Amino acid sequence: MNHPIEFVSLGPGEPELITLKGLKALQQADCIFCPATTTREGKQVSRATDIMQALDIPLSVIKPFHLPMSKERGAALAAYDQVYEEAKTRYGQQQRVVIVAEGDAGFYSSIQYIFEKLQTAGIPAQRIAGIPAFIAAGAVANLHIASQEERMIVAPGTLTADEIEQYHREGTVVVIMKLSQCAHEVQQCIQLHPDYQYHYFENVGTEKEFYTHQLEELKERRFPYFSLMIIK
Ligand code: SAH
Repeated sequence: MNHPIEFVSLGPGEPELITLKGLKALQQADCIFCPATTTREGKQVSRATDIMQALDIPLSVIKPFHLPMSKERGAALAAYDQVYEEAKTRYGQQQRVVIVAEGDAGFYSSIQYIFEKLQTAGIPAQRIAGIPAFIAAGAVANLHIASQEERMIVAPGTLTADEIEQYHREGTVVVIMKLSQCAHEVQQCIQLHPDYQYHYFENVGTEKEFYTHQLEELKERRFPYFSLMIIK
């Protein structure tokens, strides 16, 4: 029997924030494809592997694939194409194949590219839901992200200070992912509107986790890739 390829959401970083369903899929897998990157210092890092090791998933089933850090999409797509080919082969051999992504695998996740390729090829694939980083961030700060009649928008770092201002005026809570891409606009907004609440999060669920809502701490801060903001 062929097993559908499973896309398992690992959650934001804290190993226990995976679902039971996701954990069971990892435990039953013959092979788990997992993203890794190389830092500027040349060190291989894989947050996904760290999470799985903490969950006692044997390294022997984990197959890291290397994703380039650059924003140039071509190199990443080549890496995904390779994973797709190997996943397809192993699927044909009736292996249980899992592909993992951090947070929720269906939320700003480039792994979706492989999912769509499998669908096009008629290979069954199923996603297992997970906790996205901004939901975990809300819990870190004991922040009620949206309450009562409040609306919320999630944006991927393409926001301008004007847009944030507009949303705030409407009573819409703003969640900014990929914050490093709009650091300048956010800093500008802070200067113009120090009265808003800026909840800033870094590396949620890891030992490097950082949270602040103090403007003084935000002004000098360089926003890394794994950072997000909730503005109310
Ligand atoms: N699929 C992920 C989102 C991937 S997009 C999810 O469901 O959360 C990558 C962006 O997510 C990062 O730029 C950052 O804004 C946010 N992010 C992911 N993990 C994070 C973490 N542990 N702490 C803070 N931000 C995180």
